[in-house]
Amino acid sequence: MHKLPPNPDELGRLDLDDILGTIDHEVRQRFGEGEVADYIPSLAEVPKDRFGMALAMLDGTVHAVGDAREGFSIQSISKLYTLTMALEAAGDALWTRVDREPSGDPFNSLIQLELERGIPRNPFMNAGALVTTDVLLSHHADAEVALLAFIRARSGNPRISINMEVVASEQETGFRNVALANFIRSYGNLHNDVQAVLDFYYRQCALHMDCVDLARSVQFLADGGRCPSSGEQVTTSEGATRINSVMMTAGTYDAAGDFAFYVGLPAKSGVGGGIVAVVPRVMGLCVWSPTLDGKGNSLLGRYALHRFTRMTGLSVF
Ligand code: GLN
Repeated sequence: MHKLPPNPDELGRLDLDDILGTIDHEVRQRFGEGEVADYIPSLAEVPKDRFGMALAMLDGTVHAVGDAREGFSIQSISKLYTLTMALEAAGDALWTRVDREPSGDPFNSLIQLELERGIPRNPFMNAGALVTTDVLLSHHADAEVALLAFIRARSGNPRISINMEVVASEQETGFRNVALANFIRSYGNLHNDVQAVLDFYYRQCALHMDCVDLARSVQFLADGGRCPSSGEQVTTSEGATRINSVMMTAGTYDAAGDFAFYVGLPAKSGVGGGIVAVVPRVMGLCVWSPTLDGKGNSLLGRYALHRFTRMTGLSVF
């Protein structure tokens, strides 16, 4: 039965651990569906039968199930952090270099870039993330140190690091990203050395985190821009609202419509099989299962989020 969004009293009465247990049980019956991303060879080695889910409530409580403490490659979830940091660095001028419209095209598509003269459709496709990466390289003396500090503070985990094996794997096979970066550069929309942009891009994609780290790291988007782990105001409340809107319309690429339809939460996925999502004013959450659907989103992760919003009534719609 479909539920209406709960009022605060009802929210307190939801048995979140019970709901997670049910979802975990259902998902495990479906192991084997979908394929791991094999265009990045080191991701193809990840076992398929994994599922984790974590909810990080704004009061600091965490509910977790399954493989929620097993680390994985966050891949394009990193685009959420680089967007947040690039917005802080460049302000609204960022939107002259990258648009905020859904693309309807795959995450690594080249086709719109020529028609739109090197301005990527949104910061969550690879092309758009190369631009936000470039902004960070221009703004910070050491952008990688700044990004690591940002992520460690958001998740409250100082041990988060980059998996260099995944970086090497992407460097060997990232022909499309090389093409995208050079193409954007030809329009003057990258200001740093193309190879430096690509190297930093691969490193951010290769950040290794688990569901609990990731759920905590997006809490600031549920709490008007304030990060509960560090107490810092990461962005303004207007900034958080805007980032959530772009997640809703573009965070899961050309499946964003389907996500709104089945899940109804701002979400950002990565080809490592992770998906983070935000329930405004309530929690940050993360699901992980490595096998993907045809659009590069975790197949069972999406199913888990669908079941979650239907069982709790916590879709934003
Ligand atoms: N590193 C991956 C790539 O550049 C990220 C893609 C993704 O997670 N959708 O292809």
